[in-house]
Amino acid sequence: MRLKDKVSIITGAAQGIGLATAEKFAREGAIVIVCDLRQPGVDAAVARCRELGAQAVGYAVNVTDRDAVDAMVAAVNEQFGRIDVLVNNAGITKDARLQKMTIEQFDAVIDVNLRAVFHCAQAVSDTMVAQGSGVILNASSVVGIYGNFGQTNYAATKFGVIGFTKTWSRELGPKGVRVNAVAPGFIDTPILKTMPEKVIDGMRADIPLRRLGQPEEIANVYAFLASDEASYINGTVIEVAGGLTV
Ligand code: NAD
Repeated sequence: MRLKDKVSIITGAAQGIGLATAEKFAREGAIVIVCDLRQPGVDAAVARCRELGAQAVGYAVNVTDRDAVDAMVAAVNEQFGRIDVLVNNAGITKDARLQKMTIEQFDAVIDVNLRAVFHCAQAVSDTMVAQGSGVILNASSVVGIYGNFGQTNYAATKFGVIGFTKTWSRELGPKGVRVNAVAPGFIDTPILKTMPEKVIDGMRADIPLRRLGQPEEIANVYAFLASDEASYINGTVIEVAGGLTV
């Protein structure tokens, strides 16, 4: 119960790494605030957290909509009187190589993976600073550190959230708020379904552990970073990639 009663907002929590994180936080005793685009997915994730014994509530919110994010944060503050953790997990890909990428593809990924991370962090920051405590965790990627063919937009956002992490850790650290990022390698979630099987086989061969990661293996790291066990970890990026980048 490392997260007992910690009010934790997890964006993109209806599937993949976000759902695994919601479940992990539920098992660790957190009060889980599930945020995702569509009501059915949100409701199912909330039900799952409750089955695991946690208090959970859900919000169907598009994190690119600043008013909707502000309304969610206000409602959470109203109901629980505090916000302890924000996991900025929601993310998308719209891949094309540089010469083919459309402005629409570029902007869509910037909006969700970068601008919305700013929205959510800014929205919770006053509460956390007033409390003198809080944890913000950002979803980066090894792609943000090393680049990847066809992912100009995605790589830029994932490097961008490292910039957020470093900056916010300096700004908010003195106020008792820790900010860190996790950079997963290739994790077996629906986001990878957009990639050809041949490419995924190639990735597997490049990973020293010779397998994709599981969403739970990222959720475990978020749970650790959100917990008091990580009380002196601030401004870092933790790679969880099976040795991919060695
Ligand atoms: P996923 O596609 O399985 O899940 C993403 C979730 O985010 C979905 O439930 C989706 O509905 C939600 N979402 C998307 N846009 C949203 C919006 N505007 N508002 C609210 N919710 C929104 O993805 P995943 O593989 O679980 O990835 C989660 C995060 O981890 C992403 O930020 C991704 O970039 C990052 N990541 C994933 C991998 C991987 O290999 N799977 C690797 C590195 C980083």
